[in-house]
Amino acid sequence: MSEQATHVLLVEDNPGDADLVRLRLVDGKAKADVNCVNRLSDALASLREKSPSIILLDLNLPDSQGADTFRKVLEHAPDVPVVILSGQDDEELAMKALHQGVQDYLVKGAISSSGLDRAMRYAVERQALLRSLEMSRKQQLEFKNQFLSHVSHELRTPLTCIHQYASLLFDGLAGAISPEQHDYLETILKSVNQLGAMVRDLLEASRAESGKVRIEPHCVSMGDLIRLAVSMTRSVADEKQVGLEIGVDTRIPFVYGDPDRILEVLINLIDNGIKFTRAGGAVTVQACLVPTDPAFVYISVIDTGCGIDPGAKALIFERMYQDPNSIDNSRKGLGLGLFIAKELVTLHRGKIWVASEPGQGSTFSFTLPLYSLAQLLSPVLVKDGALRDAVTLVRVSLNPRSKSTRGNWKEAGRHCLELLQRCVYLDKDVVLPPMTTPGPEQTFFVVASTDLTRAEIMMTRIRDQLGKLPEVNMIGDLEISASEVALPDRAAGLNLEQQVQGVADRVTEMARAALSEKPNVTESK
Ligand code: ADP
Repeated sequence: MSEQATHVLLVEDNPGDADLVRLRLVDGKAKADVNCVNRLSDALASLREKSPSIILLDLNLPDSQGADTFRKVLEHAPDVPVVILSGQDDEELAMKALHQGVQDYLVKGAISSSGLDRAMRYAVERQALLRSLEMSRKQQLEFKNQFLSHVSHELRTPLTCIHQYASLLFDGLAGAISPEQHDYLETILKSVNQLGAMVRDLLEASRAESGKVRIEPHCVSMGDLIRLAVSMTRSVADEKQVGLEIGVDTRIPFVYGDPDRILEVLINLIDNGIKFTRAGGAVTVQACLVPTDPAFVYISVIDTGCGIDPGAKALIFERMYQDPNSIDNSRKGLGLGLFIAKELVTLHRGKIWVASEPGQGSTFSFTLPLYSLAQLLSPVLVKDGALRDAVTLVRVSLNPRSKSTRGNWKEAGRHCLELLQRCVYLDKDVVLPPMTTPGPEQTFFVVASTDLTRAEIMMTRIRDQLGKLPEVNMIGDLEISASEVALPDRAAGLNLEQQVQGVADRVTEMARAALSEKPNVTESK
């Protein structure tokens, strides 16, 4: 049987050294075909074309020196084993390279055929072993996530059942209960709620680890969300006698995010603040704009609690981390809350961090992107470096016919939005993120880069598609209208960015005006 040749990429700029290595390869037992290049750029170009069995790499090349050389090679060919050809004085650097993923090093001038042969064979074997270890690590992780996700799902059903029946007894719906029984049931319900929260966290964390968490960004009022989160956590704070305050700058514009997910982050941080603060302390939630980072809102949850050890600060956002020195030993949780919060904030392109001193309280802060209509519209409003000739705002309103639609109403809105996305041309039209409105009507807007006549075609498509939705037919009325958006005067000498901003401002005005028109039904029960 003919032995397969080892494809060697030899990166060496010194012709004498290169010849010597070739000679040793020829003398060696293994059959090798050698491609020799003398610059890093040539090596990277060759790697892009074909993956060799092994790379023999000199670190000091005309276009790259030292650690940079192996870092770039490893970056371009993470799966190919690399053996470094180092000079006598480069051993320290060669060791560093080993720590960063290089398989071996040989000192030039002391390379024998058998030594080179052996180093190459071992390097290839070790790399293959590493790859299979990495694969089995990934499989195990995937298995663990699937297992956790499955178990958490299965636990939820009996938990819901226990919760329902315990609530039934607690509310006296199955007959009168004594004060003692009332207390017992209260304890049961509290524990079931805690268990439910842990199961939710487990499910969420395993979904986050496998990259399955999605966000549905909306145009969101941060002030409203903070007030909602505070009202939802007020009773826990009161029970523990911890003050809970809000300090929101009222000029904060809307943020671009998923309201349910942001609420989750806020509640988690406020809950933690209350949990780690003694009676008499306080938790304050703030939101503000920072002049040096104008595209983001900064939200902080500040507590006067036990604070965090400097060593623990770097770890608390890790999965399952709980500081062993935290004062509250009766605390409940799995150490997943901050891990999930970090994943959710990162999905929004924001950052999360903590400032804290032991005994001095903690400030958890995170950022969320401001909602910028101009940024959202720019890709469709601009064509060939100029503003399009016509822009139309299409309004799609869904009004409930009766007051008894609460359950299905949100779902109907979600379906409408999904269908709307399919009725538009993504390169020319944008379905705006829904605006949160106080009333039950749901209004969606599409900015179309066409004139009114052509927008009619889109409106017919929308009417056809949305009209087929059973929820819309049964519980709501669909209203579709369109108006052309006045474009900035070309003679005004505005640059493109200013023109786009002008259109965005006009669209905002029109949408606001449309939303402030009174709907027919003002309440949904
Ligand atoms: P847990 O469910 O255990 O609270 P988290 O991920 O929310 O999990 O928090 C991880 C750890 O970070 C906590 O166990 C605690 O040690 C520390 N921690 C979180 N928030 C605070 C806070 N406001 N003050 C002090 N320590 C905190």
